[in-house]
Amino acid sequence: MNSIKDNETGKYELRICHMYPDLLNLYGDRGNVLSLIRRAELRGIKVRLVPVSIGDEFDQDDFDIVFLGGGQDAEQNMIRKDFVEVKGPKVQKSIEDGMVFLCICGGYQMLGKYYQEHDGTKIECLGAIDVYTVGEDVRYIQDTIYEADFLKEDGVSDSTRLYGFENHSGRTYLGPSVKPMAKVIEGAGNNGKDGYEGAIYKNVYCTYSHGSFLPKNPRMTDHLLKLALKRRYGEDFELPFLSTEGEDFARAALLQYKEKGNTAP
Ligand code: GLN
Repeated sequence: MNSIKDNETGKYELRICHMYPDLLNLYGDRGNVLSLIRRAELRGIKVRLVPVSIGDEFDQDDFDIVFLGGGQDAEQNMIRKDFVEVKGPKVQKSIEDGMVFLCICGGYQMLGKYYQEHDGTKIECLGAIDVYTVGEDVRYIQDTIYEADFLKEDGVSDSTRLYGFENHSGRTYLGPSVKPMAKVIEGAGNNGKDGYEGAIYKNVYCTYSHGSFLPKNPRMTDHLLKLALKRRYGEDFELPFLSTEGEDFARAALLQYKEKGNTAP
C-alpha cells in the first residue's frame, strides 16, 4: 500500500491519550497533540483524542500514542501518586509492549527514576526508563537546535535537524539502557554538560522541547505517526506522503527573524 485511497479514508484510526492535560501543559504543550491530529487527519486518518487525568482509567489497549506534557514541580507532585502508584504498572507494561510515547520536560522527568528538586526534596518517579533528574538553581530557557540521527532512517529528507524551546531547571542523566534522542547544536539539552538532548527507549521519545516541538518539526510528527500506525496495522502500513512545506516555511521565517537579533515570538 503506497497511500490511503479514497475508498479507504476513515479505515485507519489513531487513538491518542493526552495524559493530565489539565496539569501538565506548559508553554503550549497541547500544540504537539494538535500537530499529530492535523497531520493524521490530512491523510484521511480518523483521530480519537482522549484526555486521561487523575482518577481516570488508563487502559493500554485503548491507545496508539500517549502524550505527556511538562509541568512545574508543583504539578509533578500533584500527579505523582496517580501516575506512579495507580496508573504506573499499566504505563510501564505499555512501554515494554512498544506503545509510542512522547513526553516533554516534566513528563520526561516523571518517566525516569526520580526527580530531585533544587532544595534537595526527592520525588520518586515511575522508573519506566533509566534516567534521573536533579534540579539546580539556574534554569535553561532558550530556543534550541538538535541533530537527530534516527530521522535518517525515515529517508524522507536529508535534514536531521530538530528545533525546539527549552525551559527547565532539572538536569537529566541517562543510564545505559536509554539512548539520547539527539545531539545538541544550540541550547543546553539534558544537562548542559554532555552535549545530548532527550531520550529514546523502545518507542518512547522524551525531550525538553515544549509545545512548539512538533509544529516546528513535521518530520518528527510523521516519525511518531508512522511508528504508531505500523504497530497497530502492521509493518506493511505506509504513511502517505504529506508535504512539510507550510511548517518549513514558518520555521524558516522564525529563524530569519531570530537571526536579526529578535527573540522568537
Ligand atoms: N520541574 C521541571 C524543571 O524545571 C519541569 C519544568 C517543565 O516541565 N518545564 O526542570
